[in-house]
Amino acid sequence: MTNCLFCKIVAEEIPSAKVLENTDFLAFRDIDPKAPVHVLVIPKKHFEDIVELSKGDNVLTAGLMKFATEVAEIEKLEKGFRIVLNTGQEGGQSVQHVHAHVLGGRSLTWPPG
Ligand code: 5GP
Ligand code: ZN
Repeated sequence: MTNCLFCKIVAEEIPSAKVLENTDFLAFRDIDPKAPVHVLVIPKKHFEDIVELSKGDNVLTAGLMKFATEVAEIEKLEKGFRIVLNTGQEGGQSVQHVHAHVLGGRSLTWPPG
């Protein structure tokens, strides 16, 4: 995807603060953090959202959760954390490349807005 912000981050055309990386996934710090720890986890391959990902690739769908959980461990979020996948317009998704937010480092309220 030539005009996708997160594909550009994968390609290092746009810099990011990387937290963890492997062949299939990249984790980097959110530019506008909503908690002391706010990391975005993405598959390097472009999928628009979790619906497209889950229909397109079972291995990457499961791998995304595993990778996000590894990020929580690396960030020492043993007191608790949240993994969020905003999806579509009403879900508040603003970047159309599937991403999981890993949030923690403070008490998180519920329900979300
Ligand atoms: P969404 O609103 O789609 O669930 O999440 C998109 C996230 O991407 C937002 O939390 C936003 O702060 C983050 N973001 C937008 N542009 C950039 C960028 O250029 N670099 C980084 N690291 N994060 C970004
Ligand atoms: Zn993309």
